[in-house]
Amino acid sequence: MLHTTRVLQVDAAEPAAGDIEVAAVILRAGGLVAFPTETVYGLGANALDSRAVARIFEAKGRPFTDPLIVHIAADRQLEEVAEAVPPLAHRLAARFWPGPLTLVLKRRARVPATVSGGRDTVAVRMPNHPVALRLIAAAGLPVAAPSANLFMRPSPTQASHVLDDLSGRVDLILDAGPCPIGVESTVLDLTTPIPVVLRPGGAPVEDLRALVPDLEILNRQVSADDSEAQPAPGMFVKHYSPRARLLLIAGAPDVVLHRMVAVATALQNRGLQVGVLAAAEDAQNFKAIDQVAILGRRDDLAGISHQLFAQIRTLDKSGVDVMVAGQFARTGLGLAIWDRLLRAAEGMIIHASAPPAPVQIGALKITV
Ligand code: AMP
Ligand code: MG
Repeated sequence: MLHTTRVLQVDAAEPAAGDIEVAAVILRAGGLVAFPTETVYGLGANALDSRAVARIFEAKGRPFTDPLIVHIAADRQLEEVAEAVPPLAHRLAARFWPGPLTLVLKRRARVPATVSGGRDTVAVRMPNHPVALRLIAAAGLPVAAPSANLFMRPSPTQASHVLDDLSGRVDLILDAGPCPIGVESTVLDLTTPIPVVLRPGGAPVEDLRALVPDLEILNRQVSADDSEAQPAPGMFVKHYSPRARLLLIAGAPDVVLHRMVAVATALQNRGLQVGVLAAAEDAQNFKAIDQVAILGRRDDLAGISHQLFAQIRTLDKSGVDVMVAGQFARTGLGLAIWDRLLRAAEGMIIHASAPPAPVQIGALKITV
């Protein structure tokens, strides 16, 4: 495919106009540009050019059925990509854009079906990042952009993550440092009689309810048996996956911490390299564990979401066989954090107060 990926360092608040123009020219010519948003790095292409859009899927190894989000930089672009836009969409846009809320609406025919995996809908958002907004405005186009990672890998929150996954597969990366929020946007479907949150994300559901009191949340969680760990992975849509297995422990904070220590110790005693994703105040409890990645203070959900994917990637790079993570509060940004941890765990939850149960890690069956 491509041979080299160019990286341009840009200031997050005041990117040089010349650098933005270099990127805009690539987008207008049908190329791929990875760029920062306030959520994660996006892999952008001209949303109105089906060949450019197809290159996104190829670069990521993403199935063509998996729809992309179209990014815009001005209110008028909403009506250019979506039709029959309901008044609620305009109210939500006025309140949340630019910001981490994606609206699913009826797709205009000029947006190729490739963008939406063949659906007659289109997902749209206006990102709240100066680099993204200036790039989209300079290109003069709506920009289709999924997260700039290989399919099923954790989303990239730094330019180095993009390079790790997509070097040689993307024309240019605009590097503006780490993404502030660190988890993807909230996706809200407005094409159903009752609006549905398809994915929790950077815009808390509690905030959406102020404008959409009747909204529903799509429940993709497998019903984990209350007394035991799920018998096998793979019962859950695999996504955001570290290479290592991730064990997710649910329950009240003190019980979760106690079980995390027990699980991590048991795994390490069987000769596995263990990494723990820990709250800052709990780190001292894991002194005997091989790798400890600190996510942030338990009450700082914004700090935890900012660190989450980066720390999962750090542990993966360190070569651990298994990661152990615990539940945080599921309110506000915590719902998105829980969703990403649950998917990284492939839907398998260990309830902190449940009796020990066997889990399969590679060839080993270990009771934790
Ligand atoms: P990503 O950009 O990789 O973070 O993923 C885009 C997210 O938006 C996925 O969860 C998609 O399923 C969702 N999405 C995008 N377009 C649509 C659409 N037309 N209908 C429903 N969900 C969508
Ligand atoms: Mg993604």
